[in-house]
Amino acid sequence: MRAIDYIKEAEKKGVAIGHFNISDVVALMAIFRAARELEVSVFIGVSEGEREFIGVEEAAALVKALREEHNYPIFINADHTYSLEGIKKAVAAGFDSIIFDGAKLPFEENVQKTKEAVDYVKSVNKEVLVEAELGYIGSSSKVWDKVPEGAGLQKTTPEQARTFVDATGIDMLAPSVGNIHGMMKDAPNPRLDIELIRRIREAAGVPLVLHGASGIIKEDLTAAIKAGISMVHINTEIRVAWRKGVEEGLKHQPDEVAPYKLLREAADDVYKVVLGKLKIFNHLV
Ligand SMILES: [Zn+2]
Repeated sequence: MRAIDYIKEAEKKGVAIGHFNISDVVALMAIFRAARELEVSVFIGVSEGEREFIGVEEAAALVKALREEHNYPIFINADHTYSLEGIKKAVAAGFDSIIFDGAKLPFEENVQKTKEAVDYVKSVNKEVLVEAELGYIGSSSKVWDKVPEGAGLQKTTPEQARTFVDATGIDMLAPSVGNIHGMMKDAPNPRLDIELIRRIREAAGVPLVLHGASGIIKEDLTAAIKAGISMVHINTEIRVAWRKGVEEGLKHQPDEVAPYKLLREAADDVYKVVLGKLKIFNHLV
């Protein structure tokens, strides 16, 4: 099956596929371990910064190696890509999907640039999925003291969603429905507009992706998935778990120098976060 078939299957079942970002092999293997435990397909995301750190070709090769060795539905997505150049590199490297992010642009320009991205990707390989963003939800996966300026202020409307999908030909849409990138330091993230998700899904006619899902309460995630979200992005909570695990690993083994021993706690902590999220996305808790 192709990546799109897994997304359609998730939608039919009323569950969501997890999309988790990585900066290294520690997180990748932890995510893979959690996905295999539940036998669910999974997307690995790499932002422009993460891609630069791991290497575009290298990131694609790592995920492809896992897919082939284990005959497992694990896919790689070029998360938030802001230029056609970046998209070209990801497609050439063999990514399964790309996200063109023109959410900060005026609507017309976002339509035009997104269409350009879709036309390019589909001219090279029709099976590579293109997702686009409508409505600015902030751009950094960090821990916030307060909601970043401008993020989530303008929610996507069903009418905009339909016009945007029709004009661009994207495969998936990431709307602004109360979600923001990153997570709040001392409180849960803002609540999602579940009814709006339902109306956008109906109007858009393509699967919806929820970005910035770190810090969102379980009830909202469950309701959002039932209302029409087919993929959920988690990054910040993984980063927080990774950091905590690294700190603990160093603290517990003051004389150790073998990275694979020191990083074990980070791997376990990331695994636990991912497993917990996948259970929510599949209505197992
Ligand atoms: Zn995102």
